[in-house]
Amino acid sequence: MTHDNFQEKLSEWLDGELDASMSAAVASHLGACPACRREAELLRRLGPALFRAPAAADPRATEAFIARVMSRVEADAVSLWERLSARVLAPALGLALAALMLSIALPGPDEDAPLGVAAVSIDVETAFEVAP
Ligand SMILES: [Zn+2]
Repeated sequence: MTHDNFQEKLSEWLDGELDASMSAAVASHLGACPACRREAELLRRLGPALFRAPAAADPRATEAFIARVMSRVEADAVSLWERLSARVLAPALGLALAALMLSIALPGPDEDAPLGVAAVSIDVETAFEVAP
């Protein structure tokens, strides 16, 4: 067997999965090959870390995490509402109020005038003719 063949067998050798003669051959190669000894040592150290079961989540930590996320979400929702009311809702409300005041100040539509946009434009013209 070559050095590469032995390196491929190192993991199985560490796990005790090789038969007696192959295990003895790997052990003999390790005695003569510093590179394979280093590789075997690395695998021996990494194995438990790689295959260790993940620690169970602490329920208190999970609840604290959820509480932090929810407080951020609620804070963002409030600030979004504040931004909307300052930039969009207040001007829109002002515009709506101005339109309402204008519709109250101007004379009502003609009885014969059609409803809708055409009726509003006729009212504006009538208002300018009457005012001065
Ligand atoms: Zn080797």
